[in-house]
Amino acid sequence: MDLNIRDRKALVTGASSGIGLETARQLLAEGAVVVMTGPEPDELKAAVDELAEFKERIYAHDADIADDESVDELAASVAAEVGDLDILVNVAGIHGAGGLFHEISQEGWDRTIDVDLMGPVRVTRAFLPGLRRGGWGRIVFVSSEDAVQPYDDELPYCAAKAGMLSLAKGLSRTYASEGLLVNTVSPAFIATPMTDEMMNERAQQKGTSFDEAIASFLREERPFMELGRRGRPEEVAKVIAFLCSDAASFVNGSNYRVDAGSVATI
Ligand code: NAD
Repeated sequence: MDLNIRDRKALVTGASSGIGLETARQLLAEGAVVVMTGPEPDELKAAVDELAEFKERIYAHDADIADDESVDELAASVAAEVGDLDILVNVAGIHGAGGLFHEISQEGWDRTIDVDLMGPVRVTRAFLPGLRRGGWGRIVFVSSEDAVQPYDDELPYCAAKAGMLSLAKGLSRTYASEGLLVNTVSPAFIATPMTDEMMNERAQQKGTSFDEAIASFLREERPFMELGRRGRPEEVAKVIAFLCSDAASFVNGSNYRVDAGSVATI
């Protein structure tokens, strides 16, 4: 299927690793111009190097989505270099403060909400004027299965991701008539640095190997992931790329679950 996004201008947050890096790869493979952004210059450079075959169409800027000034600087640099965007993919996020509710501090809540919910708000607000000007646009938010199926030891993350679903749905109402479509993708347990870290911690706590930690996590914590394995970042990125494309011209305000069945409800 031709996604028909050749020369469309896209920005991907969280592009240094995991789902964001694979999203950049998919969009580039479809002929888009991609601005990759992440908080650490060295990690971002390594990610850009990995996509060297597309280097003529890659721009890269480090930015912290939890920092107003940093996001404003990013928007100014992108405007000067590539002009208005057609596509914005909000991938960046952190797992944030873990533990049961009574174990999580105000600081833990503030940081998680500031990155996972307010980060995408800042970035979307900064790029929205350009996205609206084009008459054709796509915004995709990466939420999580946790948004609709909260786990009690990661409530700041769950609440932020649930907020993101609501945010995306609301935005989809405001701008669709201008040609700017807004959708969400909700993955579960994808093999990225985020879940590597979670599984390393679990292996340590349980005194098992990394692979055994994954197997017991699937068995005990994610019993409805019927495929019985972690997802691959490109399995999420391909759905994101579809939602960023002309092929998704009648899809707006949706939430695509890419979770192997992990969410137990219809
Ligand atoms: P990842 O850790 O590889 O990616 C997260 C990215 O966000 C990194 O590139 C990181 O540098 C960036 N980031 C973190 N804080 C930032 C900040 N303050 N400013 C700018 N960038 C920042 O992990 P991933 O799994 O690829 O995560 C991508 C998204 O997918 C996240 O929003 C995550 O919540 C979501 N998600 C992941 C899974 C999973 O199982 N891996 C499941 C559901 C949702």
